[in-house]
Amino acid sequence: MKALRDNWLIQIEITNSCFLECDNCTRFIGHHKKPYFMKLEMIEQAIDSLEGFKGGIGIMGGEPLMHPDFIDICKLIQKKVPREKRYIWTSGYKWKHYRSIVRKTFEERVYYNDHQGNEQKHQPVLMAIEDYLKDRPFMKELIDKCWIQEKWSPSINPKGGFFCEVAAAMDILFEGPGGYPLEKGWWDKSPQQFQDQVERYCYRCSAALPMPPVFIKKGMDYVSCSNYKRLKDLKTPKFVKNRVECVEREYTKAQINDYAKDWQPWLYLGDEPRKSFYAMYGLFAGFLVAFGKKVRKRRNKIKECLHPSQKQSRP
Ligand code: SF4
Repeated sequence: MKALRDNWLIQIEITNSCFLECDNCTRFIGHHKKPYFMKLEMIEQAIDSLEGFKGGIGIMGGEPLMHPDFIDICKLIQKKVPREKRYIWTSGYKWKHYRSIVRKTFEERVYYNDHQGNEQKHQPVLMAIEDYLKDRPFMKELIDKCWIQEKWSPSINPKGGFFCEVAAAMDILFEGPGGYPLEKGWWDKSPQQFQDQVERYCYRCSAALPMPPVFIKKGMDYVSCSNYKRLKDLKTPKFVKNRVECVEREYTKAQINDYAKDWQPWLYLGDEPRKSFYAMYGLFAGFLVAFGKKVRKRRNKIKECLHPSQKQSRP
């Protein structure tokens, strides 16, 4: 696993409310009875806790644009986070209304995915690996190279800091004990130092379990028996609406190794290209962002040549 300090980004998950309800959402949208909206003071505390972290700071949800204080949050980010470290993930809620402040705050570092393409996929994350495999050392081997932990991010939600964004969302869903207190440097951890969270969440999760791709518009969350029972006990809204299916089966090591051969769950957009800056911001503003990006890229290349140790790893 990757040390938290070496991740390219840490997310601040300002809400778990979303206007979409995709299947197998990594934030379990549709299962929460009452969404949270992180208070401005806590967002500021989260930013302050990341002082010294070399990677970026992401704003994510749910759908962050649904936060009632979204404009104030952007102003806070502008004040406290250096431009090149600001990122946001959105599905485009009231996009025309918010796109100008999004552009001014995050420029090209916007991941806009409307989740509408029929080819889009979500790897189910509630098919607990321990319900399908018996070989604990093999499970650990798979978890140790989990693509989400490798390529994506630790995260902060109202319950604290977590080594992994899915673990953070699980802690909320399953009413866990919470994350690390948001003290300065909480993220400066080696893999050995966050094993408590690994033990608590990774074996209930299926991100690390290779399997055939699942499209986001099937109308069902696929879960394993133990997680089915947990959702049933919690009477989550999606469970009550019969949108959860329990997948009962066993995998052999040979099957898993076979699935792993051409397994690329991080390519979740399918064949769909990313939205262009012109599509996001309009012709003129899109041109400015595209041009600004080119200039910044060139400037960074020169900087990296002069100071190679400051190079950031990116997915
Ligand atoms: S197995 Fe799940 S909880 Fe563990 S690191 Fe991967 S995504 Fe996070």
